[in-house]
Amino acid sequence: MLHAPYTIVGSGIAGLAAAEAIRARDPQALITMISEEAHAFYSRPGLAYFLRGDIPEAQLQIRRPDDLQRLRLQRVNARVVQLNPASNLLYLSNGETVVYQQLLLATGALAVQPNFPGHELAGIVKLDSLNDTQQIVRLARRSKNAVVIGGGITALELVEGLLSRKVQVHFFLRGTSFWSDILDQNESQIVLERLRHEGVTIHLQTQIKQAIGQQGKLTAVETADGKTVPCDILGVAIGVKPRIEIAIQAGLATKRGILVDPQLRSSVPNIFVAGDCAEVQNPRTGTTTLDVLWPIALRQGRIAGANMTGLLQNYSKEIAFNVTQIAGLRTTIIGSIGGGSNQDLVAITRGESESWRWLPTAKMVNNNDEHNHLRMAIGERQILGALIMGDQRWSHLLQDLITNEVDITPVRNSLLKGGANALERLAAFHAEWLVARKKLKR
Ligand SMILES: Cc1cc2nc3c(=O)[nH]c(=O)nc-3n(C[C@H](O)[C@H](O)[C@H](O)COP(=O)(O)OP(=O)(O)OC[C@H]3O[C@@H](n4cnc5c(N)ncnc54)[C@H](O)[C@@H]3O)c2cc1C
Repeated sequence: MLHAPYTIVGSGIAGLAAAEAIRARDPQALITMISEEAHAFYSRPGLAYFLRGDIPEAQLQIRRPDDLQRLRLQRVNARVVQLNPASNLLYLSNGETVVYQQLLLATGALAVQPNFPGHELAGIVKLDSLNDTQQIVRLARRSKNAVVIGGGITALELVEGLLSRKVQVHFFLRGTSFWSDILDQNESQIVLERLRHEGVTIHLQTQIKQAIGQQGKLTAVETADGKTVPCDILGVAIGVKPRIEIAIQAGLATKRGILVDPQLRSSVPNIFVAGDCAEVQNPRTGTTTLDVLWPIALRQGRIAGANMTGLLQNYSKEIAFNVTQIAGLRTTIIGSIGGGSNQDLVAITRGESESWRWLPTAKMVNNNDEHNHLRMAIGERQILGALIMGDQRWSHLLQDLITNEVDITPVRNSLLKGGANALERLAAFHAEWLVARKKLKR
């Protein structure tokens, strides 16, 4: 039996950040990290860049070997198969038993698997881990045609990755638009047009009936409306699910994720939770929400790790913010901006926050040209969210106003009327706000 005072399950960014926080506060601590991931710590968002060929695999590493040496982790490469909170025990897939004092569950999320006939054929892939990405890179070398299904960013990353590896791509969408939970029709059209221009064949309102194969290998897919599309690769990105099976079996309070209090404690006091598997209170909506975002997993990991050593800091859910690349367009999403139509998605996708989808009574204001797109959700007194595609000139200003929940009453009407002048007025208002804030800080 292994005695492990601080035990972390999961070696993603939440687990790593927690280990670093524990080490910073307790130089002598024995920190044990159990994970079924065999690779060294790597960036999951970076997988999309690696798949596209933008960066080499080596650039995915997020810590230098000497940093890791200083961290002095006891690492165990195994799967936790059972948790017994009453006796502080973990049972591992290699037959080992671990007794912990403080436990962190940082088990992340996994891609939702398809269930149509033929789903087990070789050539059907997902983009979850480094192993998955290496497999896609290998397959792409000898593949001509691929089909990708899914309506969110990961599906798009698969499309772009395969395209850059000279594979002909068919992109199947359940509805008539892309990422309809977050993007409006116009933004979705911009993305789809760019993909068509790159040579992607878009199939709207198309679902798979079955995958067809020969000798266990994928050769084609049949759609619900009777079309057959030959393919060697089928990329599936229909959402992710938090990995909460051991928490459920152990009797911890769960919904879609593992429920936590503001200190990131589960319903059992010496079990903390961080990252994609944590479902946290959102004071803005009064509900609990899931985030599948790297910076949030990192921040939660840091706080949970420090709290395991006795600090007891609160995690307050900030306004979600992310910068990503959508069909080659730099896109920033801040706050709540989505329509929540839920046409294309069956679950939350990687690189997404549920709070983006939540849209209170707000008026949408657009400022567009052919290539760039700016959309703001204007509430009674504040800007509640913004989506900036292409030209990022307004991104910092909007991030400031939204995340600081600034009262924009003096410029609200002009914003609602719209037009270039309205944005200039907003910029002047922001400049005044910055000066006022500086004075206040002195
Ligand atoms: C392709 C891709 C693109 C992304 N793009 C973005 C982006 O643009 N922006 C953004 O903010 N986020 C993005 N994300 C999401 C972001 O990477 C995740 O939110 C973040 O990595 C979550 O970290 P985590 O530590 O919570 O979980 P994970 O990184 O999933 O780590 C969980 C770990 O736990 C291990 N584990 C699980 N269960 C067990 C068990 N029972 N026993 C042992 N080990 C177990 C797993 O093997 C894994 O190592 C992307 C993710 C992917 C895959």
